[in-house]
Amino acid sequence: MGVRLYGVFRKLKSRTKLRCPIPRPRLVCALAAVGWFMTTASAATWTVRAEPARLVNGGPVLFRVKTTAQVGSLSGKWLGHEVPFSFDPISRTWFALAGVSFETIPGKYALELSGERRTGAPFVLTQKFAVTAANYPKIRAQLTVEGKFTEPSPEQLKQIDADQKVKDDYLSRVTPDREWDGNFAAAAHADISDVYGSQRIFNGKAQRPHYGLDYRVPNGTPVNAMNKGTVLLARPLYFEGNFVVIDHGQGLLTLYLHLSQIDVKEGEIVARGQQIGLSGGTGRATGPHLHVAVRWQGTYLDPARLILLQLP
Ligand SMILES: [Zn+2]
Repeated sequence: MGVRLYGVFRKLKSRTKLRCPIPRPRLVCALAAVGWFMTTASAATWTVRAEPARLVNGGPVLFRVKTTAQVGSLSGKWLGHEVPFSFDPISRTWFALAGVSFETIPGKYALELSGERRTGAPFVLTQKFAVTAANYPKIRAQLTVEGKFTEPSPEQLKQIDADQKVKDDYLSRVTPDREWDGNFAAAAHADISDVYGSQRIFNGKAQRPHYGLDYRVPNGTPVNAMNKGTVLLARPLYFEGNFVVIDHGQGLLTLYLHLSQIDVKEGEIVARGQQIGLSGGTGRATGPHLHVAVRWQGTYLDPARLILLQLP
């Protein structure tokens, strides 16, 4: 029965445009839709929201789905990624933390929701959200790095290769369940020396954007976990130096680079604000500083925007 109704709904959906009728900036849309089509007697309402109200390239996004329908499972597709949703029984809301890659071109993008009712009947629902361009700085810069980073020896190349395999393996893992809890906190109490998304112009050529947030800290400044999670990596790598990666679930990782000391072990559960190490200048660094990165399913997001996001 579910399959047949699903087909019916697909047809209805193609005729009735389930577009958000409410203009920006709220981007809040209540959709009385799927549940109503799926069951003959009861009407279900759906609210699909994105926070922040203005989505930008490089920014994280919290999707909230609220419905009066009896939903057993819910997942989403967003910008080519699978988005696992978690249910919060207190607010009776499904939510997922996701992101928009730096490379995403401004436009309207669909969040495709699908799942099953408690009865086992499948449903689909689509909601479009506008993505606008963030204004990231372009900086003229002189890059000075030690010679060992510009021309690695065969021995160093072997290490770089081995490190890459470690990163390819570990950083691509997605723990669907959420481990993060509430807002993300700053990794250090210090000034910012370089923001996310800045592009250095070196010899007239734009370099790869800066995919993290740099804190101006000397050696030995405590570095704290940005949220609750499990330590995925805690080891020295050639470019990253002493490197800690925390898995917060739902595909979201935070990365801490160039540490002078690591205080956690791989597999350890850490709390938000817990010290995970001390800042330093190990690996490919021009001097002591803390580089923090936020990675969501292979794409790097702006840590500063993640900290600003009000999360359940
Ligand atoms: Zn950096």
